[in-house]
Amino acid sequence: MKKFLTDIHNHSKFSYDGVSTLSEMLDTALSLGVGFYGVAEHCEYGFCEKARKKLDYSFNEDEYFHTARHLQEDYQGCMNVLVGAEFGYTDDKKAWGRYEDTCKKYAPDFVVNSVHALNGWDYYLQTPFFEEQENGEKILRTKKEVYTEYCQLVRRSLDAPYPYDIVGHFGYVSRYYPQDDRAFSLAEFGDEIDEVLKTVIAKDKILEVNASAHGLAQICLPSEEILRRYYALGGRKISYASDAHQTSSILRSREQIVALLKEIGFTYLTVPCRGEHIKVEL
Ligand SMILES: [Zn+2]
Ligand SMILES: [Zn+2]
Repeated sequence: MKKFLTDIHNHSKFSYDGVSTLSEMLDTALSLGVGFYGVAEHCEYGFCEKARKKLDYSFNEDEYFHTARHLQEDYQGCMNVLVGAEFGYTDDKKAWGRYEDTCKKYAPDFVVNSVHALNGWDYYLQTPFFEEQENGEKILRTKKEVYTEYCQLVRRSLDAPYPYDIVGHFGYVSRYYPQDDRAFSLAEFGDEIDEVLKTVIAKDKILEVNASAHGLAQICLPSEEILRRYYALGGRKISYASDAHQTSSILRSREQIVALLKEIGFTYLTVPCRGEHIKVEL
């Protein structure tokens, strides 16, 4: 088992919310000594039309895969560039078909399957947190209700019919819930969290350790507590992701996260590449 700097799950301007160009991202990663760099541009085929008016999720997958494959060749011998995608899971079966088509057409090196949205609305937009009354008033739904529903959604995402390798940023909902107490804890959601973790293990998927914790009182998603639980349940496959959208975020918090993972007991990271799981020493 070799040791490499890995960062599997990053974006560029090909994604609606990316800042730096893909070339800029790759040049920076190379200069930082990254050995495996995963590009996972957003494919969001489950968003509803109303939500699309709030945020433009358009994505030119043809241009992306074409450009990224060329760059992958350019970097051969210097850095392993993995050309992947981040699929936004939805219960909408039409979107599943589109994700399957993307896999058939472009054969991504890896896929991150992520829950960003409920009923076509990204949690980022806050819409799933509120219930509209008949008089138009919006009432905040309880954390118990919103997070339980989120866990069930993540659980269903694990049964997605299209191929995927990594379970993205488990706990995403807690980034945006608009209350001081937004912790996603085992004390409150232990059964639901266990159900997800056990299924990740049973399906031999990789649980992502995502460094984009957006102001939460933790350095990564899922939290340390959930990572410890995953380990205790027998989970060993994890990936590190900065989820960078600009060059300055590549490898963010990686040293602290690696120290934490080692302390928990993990000894390696898993890098998915065309169906193969490559073990990389922590
Ligand atoms: Zn994501
Ligand atoms: Zn992402």
